[in-house]
Amino acid sequence: STQVTLAARPTGYPDESTWEVATTEVPEPGPGQVVVRVDLLSLDPAMRGWLNDVRSYVPPVGIGEVMRAFGSGEVVASAHDEIAVGDVVSGVFGVREHALVDGAEVTRLDTDLAPPSTWLGALGMPGMTAYFGLEDVGRAQPGDTVLVSAAAGAVGSTVVQLAKARGCRVIGIAGGPEKVAWVEETGADVAIDYKAGGLLKQIRAAAPDGVDVYFDNVGGEVLDAALASLARGARVVLCGAISGYNDETLPDGPRRYMSLLVFRASMTGFVVFDYEDRYPEAVAAIGELITSGRMQPRETVLTGGIEAFPEALLGLYRGVNTGKLLLQVSG
Ligand code: NDP
Repeated sequence: STQVTLAARPTGYPDESTWEVATTEVPEPGPGQVVVRVDLLSLDPAMRGWLNDVRSYVPPVGIGEVMRAFGSGEVVASAHDEIAVGDVVSGVFGVREHALVDGAEVTRLDTDLAPPSTWLGALGMPGMTAYFGLEDVGRAQPGDTVLVSAAAGAVGSTVVQLAKARGCRVIGIAGGPEKVAWVEETGADVAIDYKAGGLLKQIRAAAPDGVDVYFDNVGGEVLDAALASLARGARVVLCGAISGYNDETLPDGPRRYMSLLVFRASMTGFVVFDYEDRYPEAVAAIGELITSGRMQPRETVLTGGIEAFPEALLGLYRGVNTGKLLLQVSG
């Protein structure tokens, strides 16, 4: 039985020195375990990240360990009560022909509903990513303009079709005329070929009123163009950034922005003036804290009159103030 282990951590794109291919005995299941003959392996952009020895949402694959991978296959030996030889299952089987796994960790596939390949795609992890990213993170509503990158990929193509079903206007971005044609076939209102150039222009033309949900699978320049095309109140779903996964340096711009993905954090823009009609509520709350002594407001007051304004303003950038910086003009 053949397996692929991690031999050395790559810098940049993985190459031959990254992997070791070896042959081992077909394993025997211990109590509660099953042996799966792996038929399909899922190739996931995230795999590149799993090779880096950094803090992330899963530990990195260790040197000498079988490369982590989702897959599907058939149970060929079972020591688990509920899983039988012949069952078609999916799970994290690793890059190997025979996987020894706990029965509790495999999912039995309903092959009447869809073939195993689809259980690794639209009904599998990528599909779940599309669904929750669009519904929960993107909060897509009927009538929204949804922009999706890598729209011809596993996650992206599911997003396109879910968003259409949700009653959204959908713009898909993909590379090359064939993919673009397929994105249109799947129902996108507009499909954009980012390799044809003029991406920002193309997005603006397709979404003159701006993008309500941007589902980002690629990062980099595509993200930049999308950010320059947002509608008010837009939600940007940081799903992935494949354009940079093999880079040896961090991206330009907010260099650590992928932390938002890893830690499921969000950055949301807001402007205080939007809350004007709720100011009284805030004044009451803060006022109550001040009068009861639970808040100590502070101001730094500069003197010198109006003439002192230019210098006073610069005080902010030098940090002369504690609390609110004010300039005493008269009195
Ligand atoms: P895809 O099926 O979309 O395959 C990757 C696609 O990315 C390629 O087909 C290619 O399409 C596109 N691509 C590759 N390089 C670049 C580049 N430099 N610039 C722009 N596009 C590029 O993969 P998945 O659907 O599995 O994953 C899509 C994204 O979702 C990835 O970023 C992945 O990491 C992320 N993801 C995140 C999850 C999460 O929980 N947050 C879970 C699963 C996936 P094209 O020819 O159109 O360029």
